[in-house]
Amino acid sequence: MRLCCDIEVVERATGSLSLKKGKPIRAQLAVGKSPPSDSVYMMVCTTKNKNGTKYQIKGNIEKVFTKCVSEGKATIRLISPERDICISKADVIQLKSYLNILKQVVQGQMPDKSVFSSLAPVSAKKIERPKTVLVITCKKDYPLTTNFPSSLETLQVHDCSMKKMDSRIFQLRNLVCLDLSDNSLTEVPDGIEKLQNLSDLRLKCNKFEKFPMNICRLKNIQNNLAVLDLSNNQMKELPVQICELANLAMLKMDNNLLEAVPPTIGRLANLKAVSMSNNKLTVLPAGFMRLRLDSVDLFGNNFVRTENVTSRDHVDVPSLVECAARHIRKQRIPYTEDDLHTHLCRYLDSARVCWCGNFCFQCSVAYSHMVNLRTVTSAITAVDLTGSTFVPVQGFLCSPQCLNKFKTDPNAYWR
Ligand SMILES: [Zn+2]
Repeated sequence: MRLCCDIEVVERATGSLSLKKGKPIRAQLAVGKSPPSDSVYMMVCTTKNKNGTKYQIKGNIEKVFTKCVSEGKATIRLISPERDICISKADVIQLKSYLNILKQVVQGQMPDKSVFSSLAPVSAKKIERPKTVLVITCKKDYPLTTNFPSSLETLQVHDCSMKKMDSRIFQLRNLVCLDLSDNSLTEVPDGIEKLQNLSDLRLKCNKFEKFPMNICRLKNIQNNLAVLDLSNNQMKELPVQICELANLAMLKMDNNLLEAVPPTIGRLANLKAVSMSNNKLTVLPAGFMRLRLDSVDLFGNNFVRTENVTSRDHVDVPSLVECAARHIRKQRIPYTEDDLHTHLCRYLDSARVCWCGNFCFQCSVAYSHMVNLRTVTSAITAVDLTGSTFVPVQGFLCSPQCLNKFKTDPNAYWR
């Protein structure tokens, strides 16, 4: 078998007190038999030494350091020459198998013949680093008969008229960035959850009419996704589930048909850049103003100027059901349909957040108000050609105290 990895060779020669390591170099390690004695050798070929250096295995390995094997690292300490071969950036499974073969040889067992490779020099191409980036910009370059390199971390496929995502993409376990912009996609199929490391998903200029919900439902995507670009599609709404993307830092939804933003968007504590220019937004939820952004672009929407108004001039005394529900939400008490009747679960889901941070339900007062976007970002952004940075915001007030505060100073919370 052959193991592709980086190696650093440390000479432990006598007299050399400092064990200075060299720069890691790409290498291929093989195990094979060599005449005339038919002994088993380990062969190390590097980009500088393609002919390779052979080391006898039996009786010549003092120790193998395997503490960091799960990170793709190990060190083989040879007796003669007095040399440590420090392996890094190896595939963990391959590294374990390779070390296992060495162990068998050291212990005098003869591994299965199939693991032996020829100890001939190898070509530079075979030693080269695995390909991590692949950019395809036209149909003729799209691999139809060959697989994508399994080592890919970034895959970009543009202008290939792709109507369906290729399921082979979901086999790319190292993929961090997937960019399928400028195609004809309408949905993200199940299977995307296999991309455990995906943090950057770009699907702009496709034909999505509905938000691809499965992106939000999958645990590893909820935890990892940092960049989501769905600009230039035909989406009318953003689901509330998008607020489950705990690590989302950049959300681009420009040039869609969005009519509303989920009221709980303020939960996206890591969100730093939002662009929703050229949509059909008429108002923002008050929760939007909880965001602390580096940039926001809401130019070209249908925002309508509003006065400071409340739907009523008093807040009803909450019912016992509402008191209980407010408490459950405030204390973050988990609930499922196993514990509660479905309609109570839906009721709890429908909680509104007052600007004071408390939850409320029907016994609340709706308000609308113009707010300066400068409260969410220091970068100056205009929402229309007049250069205005004010947007209408709609929210709820939970108590007479909050209602009074709003009436006294509608800007109290937005400064
Ligand atoms: Zn309140």
